[in-house]
Amino acid sequence: MLDGVHAIHGGSRYPIDVENLIPEIPSAHNTGEPIVVQGQELDPEFEGALFNLNPDQPGKGSWAVVYNQSIESEGRIRFTLAHELGHYLVHRHLHGEFNCSEADTLHWDSPERQMENQANIFASCLLMPRPDFEAQIGSSPIDLDVLGACSNRYGVSLTAAILKWLEFTSARAVLVMSRNGRVQWARGSESGKWISIALNKKRSDGQRTRLPSSCATVLQTSSNVDRQGTELDARVWFPNEPSGMTLREMRLVSDQYRQTMTLLVLPAEIKPWERDQTQEEDELEDTYNRFIRKGQFPVP
Ligand SMILES: [Zn+2]
Repeated sequence: MLDGVHAIHGGSRYPIDVENLIPEIPSAHNTGEPIVVQGQELDPEFEGALFNLNPDQPGKGSWAVVYNQSIESEGRIRFTLAHELGHYLVHRHLHGEFNCSEADTLHWDSPERQMENQANIFASCLLMPRPDFEAQIGSSPIDLDVLGACSNRYGVSLTAAILKWLEFTSARAVLVMSRNGRVQWARGSESGKWISIALNKKRSDGQRTRLPSSCATVLQTSSNVDRQGTELDARVWFPNEPSGMTLREMRLVSDQYRQTMTLLVLPAEIKPWERDQTQEEDELEDTYNRFIRKGQFPVP
Protein backbone atom coordinates (compact mmCIF):
# COMPACT_ATOMS: atom_id res chain seq x y z
CA MET A 1 0.00 0.00 0.00
CA LEU A 2 2.79 2.43 0.96
CA ASP A 3 4.76 1.57 -2.19
CA GLY A 4 1.66 2.58 -4.20
CA VAL A 5 1.11 5.82 -2.28
CA HIS A 6 4.73 6.91 -2.70
CA ALA A 7 4.80 5.93 -6.39
CA ILE A 8 1.94 8.39 -6.96
CA HIS A 9 2.65 11.13 -4.46
CA GLY A 10 6.41 10.91 -4.03
CA GLY A 11 7.79 11.84 -0.64
CA SER A 12 10.27 9.81 1.32
CA ARG A 13 9.36 6.15 1.71
CA TYR A 14 11.53 5.65 4.83
CA PRO A 15 11.44 5.96 7.73
CA ILE A 16 7.73 5.29 7.98
CA ASP A 17 5.71 7.86 9.91
CA VAL A 18 3.73 5.27 11.86
CA GLU A 19 2.11 7.78 14.20
CA ASN A 20 0.37 9.45 11.25
CA LEU A 21 -0.21 6.20 9.40
CA ILE A 22 -2.17 4.51 12.21
CA PRO A 23 -5.28 6.75 12.16
CA GLU A 24 -5.54 6.18 8.35
CA ILE A 25 -5.69 2.42 8.67
CA PRO A 26 -9.35 1.96 9.77
CA SER A 27 -10.68 3.73 6.66
CA ALA A 28 -8.08 2.17 4.33
CA HIS A 29 -9.14 -1.29 5.54
CA ASN A 30 -12.81 -0.47 6.15
CA THR A 31 -12.66 -1.78 9.69
CA GLY A 32 -15.21 0.69 11.08
CA GLU A 33 -13.18 0.82 14.30
CA PRO A 34 -11.18 4.05 14.58
CA ILE A 35 -7.82 4.38 16.35
CA VAL A 36 -6.16 7.31 18.06
CA VAL A 37 -2.49 7.50 19.11
CA GLN A 38 -1.38 9.00 22.43
CA GLY A 39 1.88 9.35 24.29
CA GLN A 40 1.59 8.79 28.04
CA GLU A 41 3.85 8.31 31.02
CA LEU A 42 3.60 4.54 31.48
CA ASP A 43 5.17 2.26 34.04
CA PRO A 44 8.83 1.93 32.88
CA GLU A 45 8.45 -1.76 32.07
CA PHE A 46 5.83 -1.00 29.38
CA GLU A 47 6.70 0.08 25.87
CA GLY A 48 3.14 0.54 24.72
CA ALA A 49 -0.43 -0.70 24.74
CA LEU A 50 -3.58 -1.04 22.66
CA PHE A 51 -6.98 -0.58 24.31
CA ASN A 52 -10.55 -0.81 23.15
CA LEU A 53 -12.28 2.24 24.62
CA ASN A 54 -15.64 0.79 23.68
CA PRO A 55 -15.42 -2.84 24.81
CA ASP A 56 -19.13 -3.37 25.50
CA GLN A 57 -20.24 -2.93 21.90
CA PRO A 58 -18.89 -5.78 19.76
CA GLY A 59 -17.87 -4.73 16.26
CA LYS A 60 -18.04 -1.04 17.19
CA GLY A 61 -14.66 -0.77 18.83
CA SER A 62 -12.88 2.50 19.26
CA TRP A 63 -9.20 1.99 19.91
CA ALA A 64 -6.30 3.84 21.47
CA VAL A 65 -2.65 3.08 20.88
CA VAL A 66 -0.60 4.36 23.78
CA TYR A 67 3.19 4.58 23.79
CA ASN A 68 5.46 5.28 26.72
CA GLN A 69 6.62 8.87 26.16
CA SER A 70 9.31 8.57 28.79
CA ILE A 71 11.24 6.38 26.33
CA GLU A 72 13.77 8.62 24.63
CA SER A 73 14.55 6.44 21.65
CA GLU A 74 12.48 7.49 18.65
CA GLY A 75 13.33 4.16 17.04
CA ARG A 76 11.90 2.14 19.91
CA ILE A 77 8.72 4.22 19.90
CA ARG A 78 8.32 3.73 16.13
CA PHE A 79 8.74 -0.03 16.50
CA THR A 80 6.26 -0.12 19.41
CA LEU A 81 3.65 1.83 17.43
CA ALA A 82 4.03 -0.57 14.50
CA HIS A 83 3.78 -3.51 16.94
CA GLU A 84 0.50 -2.13 18.39
CA LEU A 85 -0.83 -1.60 14.87
CA GLY A 86 -0.08 -5.28 14.28
CA HIS A 87 -2.20 -6.20 17.34
CA TYR A 88 -5.01 -4.00 15.99
CA LEU A 89 -5.01 -5.60 12.53
CA VAL A 90 -4.46 -9.20 13.57
CA HIS A 91 -5.68 -9.64 17.17
CA ARG A 92 -8.33 -7.03 17.99
CA HIS A 93 -11.08 -9.69 17.73
CA LEU A 94 -9.36 -11.76 20.40
CA HIS A 95 -8.70 -9.25 23.18
CA GLY A 96 -9.76 -5.76 24.20
CA GLU A 97 -6.45 -4.84 25.75
CA PHE A 98 -2.78 -5.44 24.98
CA ASN A 99 -0.01 -4.30 27.33
CA CYS A 100 3.39 -4.76 25.77
CA SER A 101 6.71 -4.76 27.61
CA GLU A 102 10.23 -4.46 26.22
CA ALA A 103 10.54 -8.23 26.47
CA ASP A 104 7.43 -8.57 24.28
CA THR A 105 8.92 -6.39 21.56
CA LEU A 106 12.33 -8.11 21.65
CA HIS A 107 11.84 -11.83 22.29
CA TRP A 108 10.46 -13.22 19.11
CA ASP A 109 10.64 -16.92 19.57
CA SER A 110 8.78 -17.56 22.79
CA PRO A 111 5.85 -19.93 22.14
CA GLU A 112 3.87 -18.42 25.05
CA ARG A 113 4.08 -15.13 23.35
CA GLN A 114 2.73 -16.13 19.97
CA MET A 115 0.69 -12.95 19.60
CA GLU A 116 3.66 -10.80 20.58
CA ASN A 117 5.75 -12.64 18.04
CA GLN A 118 3.17 -12.01 15.32
CA ALA A 119 2.97 -8.30 16.23
CA ASN A 120 6.79 -8.10 16.00
CA ILE A 121 6.85 -9.77 12.61
CA PHE A 122 4.20 -7.32 11.42
CA ALA A 123 6.21 -4.34 12.74
CA SER A 124 9.42 -5.59 11.20
CA CYS A 125 7.80 -6.18 7.79
CA LEU A 126 6.09 -2.77 7.85
CA LEU A 127 9.17 -0.78 8.88
CA MET A 128 11.96 -2.79 7.19
CA PRO A 129 10.64 -4.64 4.13
CA ARG A 130 13.06 -7.44 3.38
CA PRO A 131 13.67 -6.72 -0.35
CA ASP A 132 14.69 -3.15 0.51
CA PHE A 133 16.82 -4.32 3.46
CA GLU A 134 18.61 -6.88 1.28
CA ALA A 135 19.24 -4.24 -1.38
CA GLN A 136 20.81 -1.94 1.26
CA ILE A 137 23.18 -4.65 2.41
CA GLY A 138 24.06 -5.92 -1.05
CA SER A 139 27.17 -8.05 -0.99
CA SER A 140 29.13 -5.91 1.48
CA PRO A 141 30.59 -7.72 4.49
CA ILE A 142 28.34 -7.19 7.48
CA ASP A 143 29.45 -4.87 10.27
CA LEU A 144 27.86 -2.36 12.63
CA ASP A 145 28.33 0.47 10.09
CA VAL A 146 26.28 -1.39 7.47
CA LEU A 147 23.60 -2.38 9.99
CA GLY A 148 23.72 1.10 11.57
CA ALA A 149 22.99 2.65 8.15
CA CYS A 150 19.91 0.38 7.94
CA SER A 151 18.78 1.38 11.41
CA ASN A 152 19.03 5.05 10.34
CA ARG A 153 17.23 4.46 7.07
CA TYR A 154 14.27 2.72 8.76
CA GLY A 155 14.31 4.86 11.91
CA VAL A 156 14.53 1.86 14.21
CA SER A 157 16.98 0.87 16.95
CA LEU A 158 20.18 -0.89 15.95
CA THR A 159 18.88 -3.92 17.87
CA ALA A 160 15.71 -4.05 15.75
CA ALA A 161 17.76 -3.76 12.54
CA ILE A 162 20.11 -6.56 13.63
CA LEU A 163 17.17 -8.81 14.60
CA LYS A 164 15.70 -8.23 11.14
CA TRP A 165 19.01 -9.11 9.46
CA LEU A 166 19.29 -12.29 11.58
CA GLU A 167 15.85 -13.31 10.32
CA PHE A 168 16.97 -13.76 6.72
CA THR A 169 20.77 -13.94 6.57
CA SER A 170 22.44 -17.19 5.58
CA ALA A 171 25.47 -16.18 7.70
CA ARG A 172 26.07 -18.00 10.98
CA ALA A 173 25.63 -15.12 13.40
CA VAL A 174 24.52 -14.50 16.98
CA LEU A 175 23.49 -11.29 18.72
CA VAL A 176 24.30 -11.29 22.44
CA MET A 177 22.92 -8.67 24.82
CA SER A 178 24.72 -8.52 28.15
CA ARG A 179 24.76 -6.49 31.34
CA ASN A 180 27.49 -6.53 34.01
CA GLY A 181 29.30 -9.31 32.17
CA ARG A 182 26.32 -11.67 32.04
CA VAL A 183 24.27 -12.69 29.02
CA GLN A 184 20.74 -11.29 29.17
CA TRP A 185 19.62 -12.90 25.98
CA ALA A 186 21.07 -14.15 22.72
CA ARG A 187 19.49 -14.64 19.35
CA GLY A 188 20.96 -16.53 16.40
CA SER A 189 20.30 -16.49 12.68
CA GLU A 190 18.80 -19.67 11.21
CA SER A 191 22.24 -21.29 10.95
CA GLY A 192 23.38 -19.75 14.26
CA LYS A 193 20.38 -20.97 16.26
CA TRP A 194 22.11 -23.96 17.85
CA ILE A 195 25.10 -22.07 19.11
CA SER A 196 22.85 -19.34 20.60
CA ILE A 197 20.97 -21.86 22.76
CA ALA A 198 23.89 -22.47 25.14
CA LEU A 199 24.24 -18.73 25.76
CA ASN A 200 20.56 -18.41 26.71
CA LYS A 201 20.68 -21.23 29.25
CA LYS A 202 20.65 -20.23 32.90
CA ARG A 203 23.19 -21.91 35.15
CA SER A 204 22.15 -24.37 37.83
CA ASP A 205 22.28 -21.59 40.47
CA GLY A 206 19.73 -19.61 38.44
CA GLN A 207 22.30 -17.03 37.34
CA ARG A 208 22.70 -16.10 33.73
CA THR A 209 25.74 -17.29 31.79
CA ARG A 210 28.88 -15.16 32.10
CA LEU A 211 30.53 -13.77 28.99
CA PRO A 212 33.72 -15.74 28.20
CA SER A 213 36.59 -14.12 30.10
CA SER A 214 38.82 -13.85 27.02
CA CYS A 215 36.24 -12.53 24.54
CA ALA A 216 36.81 -9.06 23.07
CA THR A 217 33.72 -7.63 24.80
CA VAL A 218 35.26 -8.41 28.20
CA LEU A 219 38.91 -7.64 27.34
CA GLN A 220 38.41 -4.40 25.42
CA THR A 221 36.50 -2.54 28.11
CA SER A 222 38.51 0.65 27.48
CA SER A 223 36.54 1.40 24.31
CA ASN A 224 32.78 1.47 23.93
CA VAL A 225 32.60 0.36 20.36
CA ASP A 226 34.18 -1.93 17.79
CA ARG A 227 32.10 -1.53 14.65
CA GLN A 228 34.18 -3.67 12.25
CA GLY A 229 34.96 -6.35 14.78
CA THR A 230 37.93 -8.22 16.17
CA GLU A 231 38.97 -11.59 14.80
CA LEU A 232 39.41 -14.23 17.46
CA ASP A 233 39.45 -17.98 17.99
CA ALA A 234 35.85 -19.22 17.69
CA ARG A 235 36.46 -21.57 20.65
CA VAL A 236 36.64 -18.57 23.01
CA TRP A 237 32.86 -18.35 22.67
CA PHE A 238 31.97 -21.82 21.44
CA PRO A 239 34.32 -24.54 22.73
CA ASN A 240 32.90 -27.13 20.33
CA GLU A 241 33.98 -25.29 17.20
CA PRO A 242 37.03 -26.78 15.43
CA SER A 243 40.53 -25.49 16.09
CA GLY A 244 41.71 -22.93 13.59
CA MET A 245 38.25 -21.42 13.10
CA THR A 246 37.98 -17.71 13.82
CA LEU A 247 34.93 -15.52 14.37
CA ARG A 248 34.46 -11.76 14.16
CA GLU A 249 33.24 -10.06 17.32
CA MET A 250 31.68 -6.58 17.03
CA ARG A 251 30.37 -4.67 20.00
CA LEU A 252 28.64 -1.53 21.17
CA VAL A 253 28.15 -0.42 24.76
CA SER A 254 24.99 1.55 25.38
CA ASP A 255 25.21 3.74 28.47
CA GLN A 256 21.57 4.64 28.15
CA TYR A 257 20.34 1.12 28.76
CA ARG A 258 23.40 -0.16 30.65
CA GLN A 259 23.63 -2.88 28.04
CA THR A 260 26.34 -4.20 25.80
CA MET A 261 25.51 -5.50 22.37
CA THR A 262 27.87 -8.07 20.86
CA LEU A 263 27.46 -9.38 17.34
CA LEU A 264 29.33 -12.56 16.47
CA VAL A 265 29.76 -13.68 12.86
CA LEU A 266 31.23 -17.14 12.23
CA PRO A 267 32.19 -19.08 9.10
CA ALA A 268 29.80 -21.84 8.00
CA GLU A 269 29.52 -24.74 10.39
CA ILE A 270 31.92 -27.65 9.98
CA LYS A 271 30.10 -30.77 11.20
CA PRO A 272 32.08 -33.12 13.43
CA TRP A 273 32.22 -35.84 10.73
CA GLU A 274 33.45 -33.29 8.18
CA ARG A 275 36.11 -32.27 10.68
CA ASP A 276 37.27 -35.86 11.01
CA GLN A 277 37.51 -36.07 7.25
CA THR A 278 39.56 -32.87 7.14
CA GLN A 279 41.84 -34.24 9.83
CA GLU A 280 42.23 -37.51 7.95
CA GLU A 281 43.08 -35.56 4.84
CA ASP A 282 45.64 -33.58 6.85
CA GLU A 283 47.08 -36.82 8.14
CA LEU A 284 47.24 -38.22 4.61
CA GLU A 285 48.91 -35.03 3.51
CA ASP A 286 51.39 -35.40 6.35
CA THR A 287 52.14 -38.97 5.36
CA TYR A 288 52.60 -37.88 1.74
CA ASN A 289 54.90 -35.03 2.76
CA ARG A 290 56.86 -37.39 4.97
CA PHE A 291 57.45 -39.68 2.03
CA ILE A 292 58.55 -36.75 -0.11
CA ARG A 293 60.88 -35.51 2.63
CA LYS A 294 62.48 -38.89 2.85
CA GLY A 295 62.97 -38.88 -0.92
CA GLN A 296 60.36 -41.55 -1.49
CA PHE A 297 58.62 -40.06 -4.51
CA PRO A 298 55.37 -41.72 -5.47
CA VAL A 299 55.50 -43.90 -8.55
CA PRO A 300 53.36 -42.31 -11.32
ZN1 LIG B 1 2.31 -6.61 22.14
